[in-house]
Amino acid sequence: MVTVKNLNKYFGDLHVLKDINFKVRESEVVCLIGSSGSGKSTLLRCLNFLEMLNSGVVMIKGQAVDPKKNNLNDVRQKVGMVFQQFNLFPHKTVLENVTEAPIQVKKKKKTEAEQEALALLKKVGLLEKANEFPSKLSGGQMQRVAIARALAMKPEIMLFDEPTSALDPELVGEVLQTIKTLASEGMTMVVVTHEMGFAREVADRVVYMHEGRIVEVGEPEEIFDHPKEERTKAFLSSIL
Ligand code: ADP
Ligand code: MG
Repeated sequence: MVTVKNLNKYFGDLHVLKDINFKVRESEVVCLIGSSGSGKSTLLRCLNFLEMLNSGVVMIKGQAVDPKKNNLNDVRQKVGMVFQQFNLFPHKTVLENVTEAPIQVKKKKKTEAEQEALALLKKVGLLEKANEFPSKLSGGQMQRVAIARALAMKPEIMLFDEPTSALDPELVGEVLQTIKTLASEGMTMVVVTHEMGFAREVADRVVYMHEGRIVEVGEPEEIFDHPKEERTKAFLSSIL
């Protein structure tokens, strides 16, 4: 689904991503872990070209994305993203938040967009909130609306950047459950997370990053129970 080859990214002189190589297969859930500043968010943002690469290639479904030739809006439709901060439109209802992009970007008919949005709101358990404004929702509910909004564009892959980090602890579970449901339905996903229990349970593979490099990749049991690299061991013992 996604292949990254020799990706390098700089912010000025700062070398933030160093020769990143990795793949995400169809229907796979990859959890990206690592300490703050290791480059996880930047890597996600490079996958949907919110950041431009300095060198290397990102391939989506076997096709190298060329920002000069490809329409990046098309790429971003295939690669949905959910952020730590949900960024809902405050003056639009939940339903309008979900239908906005399909109507504006995909030129969908309003009635069709609404039908699809209601189905998605049902999926994330918020059908009864369709006509509320975001200010009436809890953080967990807002994040589930943000997930429905991303799904409304029918992405091939979903990227989650610390989707539960801004939530009160009691609201984390409902958002992780929503992501788990998507995983069980076969959605391809890359999830940056500090929730190691979630990563262990849901990830097909875990990628550990440190200072802009991928240090170790493996199945959850390999990374969490039998890490090979000293860096990985040190990171895990610092957080567990
Ligand atoms: P993580 O998500 O793992 O915490 P980030 O990808 O956010 O890491 O950041 C990686 C490094 O890049 C950090 O040193 C951060 O300060 C730097 N960085 C991130 N975004 C920018 C930016 N827009 N301009 C300059 N430096 C940035
Ligand atoms: Mg980050």
